[in-house]
Amino acid sequence: MSDPFLHSRRTLTLRFDIPISKTREFWDALRDGRFVTTKCSNCGNISFPPQADCPKCMGNEFSWVDLGKDATLVTFTYVQITPASFADNDPYIIAIGELQGGLKVLAWLEGVKPEDTKPGMKMRIEARLAGEGNPFYVFVPA
Ligand SMILES: [Zn+2]
Repeated sequence: MSDPFLHSRRTLTLRFDIPISKTREFWDALRDGRFVTTKCSNCGNISFPPQADCPKCMGNEFSWVDLGKDATLVTFTYVQITPASFADNDPYIIAIGELQGGLKVLAWLEGVKPEDTKPGMKMRIEARLAGEGNPFYVFVPA
């Protein structure tokens, strides 16, 4: 049987690349424990990460929709050799989860061992606060 894990030896950085200016509400909602994103008022396109300008029709009117916190694991990478910026961290899992609406989200997966991590498993998005008080989000097993 082949090794079920995808071992990464490359530097892998995970940034939460969400522009702050018009999408502050995303972080405010996350602080309140809600996971939201933008929906274009013109064409109805739902974007993740939140976009102030619709990538489909270039409209700039949008509303916020609640995405819910349930996700299904699509794939993951177990990072054993941590890049310098995470030198203090244990090895970690980066996962891609699919939300109920079909959007895919990249985040760390916590609370499960790599050998117990299986595509198709149910997960939940949880908000976390970093040391500086900045919110971020992770997946945890549901
Ligand atoms: Zn649009």
